[in-house]
Amino acid sequence: MPNSICPECDEEVFVDAESEQGDRVSCEECGSSLVVVGLDPVELDLYVAAETDDLSDDADYETYDYGSGSY
Ligand SMILES: [Zn+2]
Repeated sequence: MPNSICPECDEEVFVDAESEQGDRVSCEECGSSLVVVGLDPVELDLYVAAETDDLSDDADYETYDYGSGSY
């Protein structure tokens, strides 16, 4: 089963094997709403509701490069 790490609490989050990019999952540890942003490997980001108007939230800009490590 694919899994990834919750960007909020760093706990492992299991993702349904048939999930697609853009699907939303919930972290069982902290309850955060997460969105699948990548599938190979599975990457999760915090889901930000469209009605949220907080410009100080930088969660959208966090990227996780598990593969190359060349960043
Ligand atoms: Zn979490």
